[in-house]
Amino acid sequence: MAKAKVLITGDVQKVDSKIWRLLKGLDTDLSIIVAHDKEKVIDHLDKNSLDLILCDLADNPEGDQSISDTIQSHLPKKNIPLIFYTNQSKIRDKINNFDKIHEKLTVLEETCAIDPLTSLYNRRYLEERFDQEISSCQRHQHLLSCFMIDIDDFKFVNDHYGHPFGDYVLAEVAQLIEDSCRIGDVVSRFGGEEFFVLLPQTNPKGALILGERVRENIDKHIFQFDKYILHLTVSIGITTTTNDMPQDHCQQTLLKQADTALYQAKRNGKNQIVEWQVSP
Ligand code: GH3
Ligand code: MG
Ligand code: MG
Repeated sequence: MAKAKVLITGDVQKVDSKIWRLLKGLDTDLSIIVAHDKEKVIDHLDKNSLDLILCDLADNPEGDQSISDTIQSHLPKKNIPLIFYTNQSKIRDKINNFDKIHEKLTVLEETCAIDPLTSLYNRRYLEERFDQEISSCQRHQHLLSCFMIDIDDFKFVNDHYGHPFGDYVLAEVAQLIEDSCRIGDVVSRFGGEEFFVLLPQTNPKGALILGERVRENIDKHIFQFDKYILHLTVSIGITTTTNDMPQDHCQQTLLKQADTALYQAKRNGKNQIVEWQVSP
């Protein structure tokens, strides 16, 4: 069997003694090539069918472009595993900083998906998740139901009790919706005083039962803030995917249907649920 070819290179001119000992101590018989000159490294990359590249990173490489940069610009054309290593604490610190930046980006990503007032998912996140849930339901041949929920006469609340009371109501309604839904349902603040809920694996009958629970829990809740006590209601538009719904415009179709059903619930006198139906 041909020996595996390992190229040792890097921005440091001498092979790290620990790496050297490690490679020499391996049971496998390796063909080790050492090159620290840029042209030679490129030559080896082009001519030799390498099995592995080990590259020692340095903070202040000699020359205009570091060996690690050279390798990275040549490597995409090859398909050779590449391992970077370092003995320099400055580089280790940089790697640790990358980890910290990565952690911060993850937090930022989560923050970007959350509405600060209600702590629910925001519309941006909903739109992304919506497509994922549609694909998943179609793949597994499940139904996906949705609620569009709107607080009734919310403008009146703001106008008569003030904006802070309105904000409190939004946060409280959000919590009530979330508490009424199941784990796995995706509850989001769609805009102002509107909420949108995705109910994966839920048929129209199940959605109606759940929608009624949401409506009822809000209807019987007492909203209390400062010296004010208030009773509030919501209207809900419901819709469900059908087996023949094309995936392309499925999200827009469901949003439109839920919105149309919600509009009908408002016209019927509010504090009620309407299921979307094909117009006769
Ligand atoms: P309907 O029963 O038909 O839904 O009437 P409505 O009064 O609830 O609806 P309308 O669209 O007339 O008013 C919505 C109000 O929601 C107006 C806007 O000031 C208020 N609003 C939107 N976002 C916020 C918010 O973040 N905080 C507060 N306090 N109010 C908000
Ligand atoms: Mg509204
Ligand atoms: Mg409203």
